[in-house]
Amino acid sequence: MTTRYYLWTVGCQMNKADSEKLAAGFDRMGLKATDRIERADIVVLNTCSVRQHAEDRAYSKLGRVRDLKKANPALKVALMGCMVGLKTDDLKKRFPQVDAFARPQQFEPIIELIEGPVEDLGGEFWPSTYAIPEGPAAFVPVVHGCNKFCTYCIVPYRRGREKSRPMDEIIRETAYLCANGVREVTLLGQTVEAYGHDLPGQPDLGDLMRELSAIDRLARIRFLTSYPKDMTHRILQAVAELPKVMESFSLPFQAGSDRVLESMRRGYTRAEYLEKIAEVRALMPNAGITTDVIVGYPGETEEDFQQTLSLIEEVRFDKVHVAAYSPRPGTIAFRKMEDDVTAATKAAWLHRIEELEHRISLEINETSVGNVEQVLIEGVRGEQPFGRTRTGKLVHLDAAVRIGSMVDVRIEHAGPFSLRGTPIDALTLA
Ligand code: SF4
Repeated sequence: MTTRYYLWTVGCQMNKADSEKLAAGFDRMGLKATDRIERADIVVLNTCSVRQHAEDRAYSKLGRVRDLKKANPALKVALMGCMVGLKTDDLKKRFPQVDAFARPQQFEPIIELIEGPVEDLGGEFWPSTYAIPEGPAAFVPVVHGCNKFCTYCIVPYRRGREKSRPMDEIIRETAYLCANGVREVTLLGQTVEAYGHDLPGQPDLGDLMRELSAIDRLARIRFLTSYPKDMTHRILQAVAELPKVMESFSLPFQAGSDRVLESMRRGYTRAEYLEKIAEVRALMPNAGITTDVIVGYPGETEEDFQQTLSLIEEVRFDKVHVAAYSPRPGTIAFRKMEDDVTAATKAAWLHRIEELEHRISLEINETSVGNVEQVLIEGVRGEQPFGRTRTGKLVHLDAAVRIGSMVDVRIEHAGPFSLRGTPIDALTLA
């Protein structure tokens, strides 16, 4: 009888990439995927700890799994991802329904649960197993972990220190993806410009993108998430010079006030962040820049918050992802700082940023009406094909176009979140 697995994933693209790799491994072992948890023989929950909301969703799934396991004691359950730390004793007590715990990129405990003891899978990267691409755009993790230890963040404790994948391994995976229909890869890292610091010869992200550009069938390269201090002029020059690399940046600033930035241990000042933005725009005046910001950090005052608003006004980001601070157990801020901004103030600040960013995003998007943008068609929603421009903007099309096509689109309508247009020329990449 075929063994069926149910794989549930929340969190960032790194988690999604881990799940895709695990699914590829399961497929290689002859297991079949199911999207109905009650039909599964194996349940894997790939979790996220960055926000309370993500953990709450995992708790709810764990409750469902507990009931299923009562009815079927043979059900195998694995908990994976950022909820799993170095020590699992406490987790074992809290979740007796779970048979195996696996940290991010640690696949062995899950495979052992199914097959018994396994040989070394090649460390955290399981190198010879690639995810089967689901469309023309794919994620490729290039550096795992983070060394930065921002006070509010759990990532370095759960994903470990920065560890780069060997360049030839990334090239092999990208070539495999492109041979299977992929046209665009997004190179992933928690701080993606940290790529290569720990490799022999210390290549950087620009060197990697240069090598990947030589893959014929690959049309576009993106990268995220950026960390201002790691983003060197050399890397920016490579982005500007390499035709396949998209002018699309995800550059979190997190707070506009130097006092809060210092307390967060972000490692840069407001002025240094703004200098980095100026450098990007000097090289690529039309670059798309998105950002992440936190409101309600411990000790944040109205005056600090005003500086966050003024930075957003000054930079005019294409998109702002805003989150209210929530204390995460295990972080420096959780241990040492009082969560002293009220929930009502956090909600009000969040709302003010959303209003501001909607206005600015709409104003920026309206300037593209009438322009012709290159769009890679990633899929179809309802009857409408959609894809992204070179600056990372979502575009819906008013005409049927094949998924995977690269089309020139005249933009006819702009909203705060997306654009709409009509293809003027369909250049299908062979
Ligand atoms: S740079 Fe800071 S916020 Fe980003 S993953 Fe590392 S510790 Fe977390």
